[in-house]
Amino acid sequence: MNQTPARLRVAPSPTGDPHVGTAYMSLFNLAYARATGGAFVLRIEDTDRARYVATSEQQIYDTLHWLGLDWDEGPDIGGPYAPYRQSERLETYRPFVEQLIEAGHAYYCWCSTERLAGLRAEQQASKSPVTGYDRLCHGLTREQRAALPGFSETPVVRMLVPDDVELAFTDLIRGEVSAPRPDDQVILKADGFPTYHLAVVVDDHLMGITHVVRGEEWISSTPKHLLLYRWLGWPEPAFAHMPLLRNTDKSKISKRKNPAARLTWFLEQGYLPEALRNFLQLLAYPPVHDDEDVSTFEEFVAAFDWAKVNTTGPIFDLAKLNALNGHYIRALSPGDLADRVAAFAVREGQWTQPSQADAALLRRAVPLVQERLVLLSEAVPKLAYLFTADDDLVVDPDALAKAGPDAAAVVRAALVALEALPDWSHEAIQVALRGALVDGLGIKPKFAFGPVRLAVTGSTVSPPLFESMELLGRESSLARLRTLQSLL
Ligand code: GLU
Repeated sequence: MNQTPARLRVAPSPTGDPHVGTAYMSLFNLAYARATGGAFVLRIEDTDRARYVATSEQQIYDTLHWLGLDWDEGPDIGGPYAPYRQSERLETYRPFVEQLIEAGHAYYCWCSTERLAGLRAEQQASKSPVTGYDRLCHGLTREQRAALPGFSETPVVRMLVPDDVELAFTDLIRGEVSAPRPDDQVILKADGFPTYHLAVVVDDHLMGITHVVRGEEWISSTPKHLLLYRWLGWPEPAFAHMPLLRNTDKSKISKRKNPAARLTWFLEQGYLPEALRNFLQLLAYPPVHDDEDVSTFEEFVAAFDWAKVNTTGPIFDLAKLNALNGHYIRALSPGDLADRVAAFAVREGQWTQPSQADAALLRRAVPLVQERLVLLSEAVPKLAYLFTADDDLVVDPDALAKAGPDAAAVVRAALVALEALPDWSHEAIQVALRGALVDGLGIKPKFAFGPVRLAVTGSTVSPPLFESMELLGRESSLARLRTLQSLL
């Protein structure tokens, strides 16, 4: 265990439904914060006003809380370095921009977007080895620049990236890493907002972040960030770049192409947060216990080590997640499972708020399906026949057509046997039906109970029949048998 308390952060941009990568980053950041007795910070990076989505921030809170990835400081709970929302920190960034300009590390640029687009097109057409901004504005006053074409009234501020910029850095996961030479990065936009690159460095420094842990896509930005640390005279944090999550065909998981890239998708599908958390622990990271995927967050934390992270983009294998979800569903107490099924079903519109009687019935019913559930979403459809009024139960017409010549006799004999049954337990129901149908009518067990199942559940495939009848009660069970009798 590392004894120096580390401060880590996750810094999502509220640009839509949160990406599953945000949960993945949060999990690893949080694990190291807990392993070192440090702190985990949530910072909202909302400086890109064009991509800002108002509902996104709440979704970030909701999905991370759902996963149990709780932060020690953040916009919603405050903390010693508040505010934690970048749009509320604009005054903080400004003096550092001035400082960099005065020191000659940054300069105003008045080039219009049209000029920059033209420049890019030209460089591409001529296959120029020189790419990026051509520094037209560098060293010019506003008046001098205004006299040239492609002038815009509202300038941006750019970094003056030196020729000898250090491109290599040490990564906790990857060791020595080398990135391509950066362009003269814009750090302050025309709208007065800092870009990500300036804001991330200023905030990580001011918030005392000791370890910057983020996705692999930010490796190419790190040399720019390191320049800013050096120019501002600040100590560098440690860096760890996590691998990008991949599809089975190795392509990058994207919100546009993969439903599973959206964190809320997992809630909508009926995954348990503990299963998704356990699944994320196994992405590019070895299981805590050999040959056993299941482990708690506490076990993950206790054995945590950056050196164990694999740099190959991990495959996002939903079959493995489903297996874990089934495991965690089986591990729940029936009461807990029923509560989660009800909360899920109401939230996702499968069910209206259940009455007390229905809630109690669900608690008694979930053990019938618990062993085979993969997703919470499967429970209510599988058990719907228990919550349907007898008159509203739809008997599968295909099954009815194929009910066979014995069906009417089976239902008649079942009714006789059950009407007289003194004890309405599933054991007594089974004994009575077996006696009446298998022994009495001489029908093979394989066929004997089919018509009864069809009557009671409306289908030929259902959770256990005798237990279902016990839960439904005598009156409902008999009413359903009589209805089928009239249909045959
Ligand atoms: N706001 C950045 C993002 O959305 C954060 C990157 C970082 O962690 O530095 O990915």
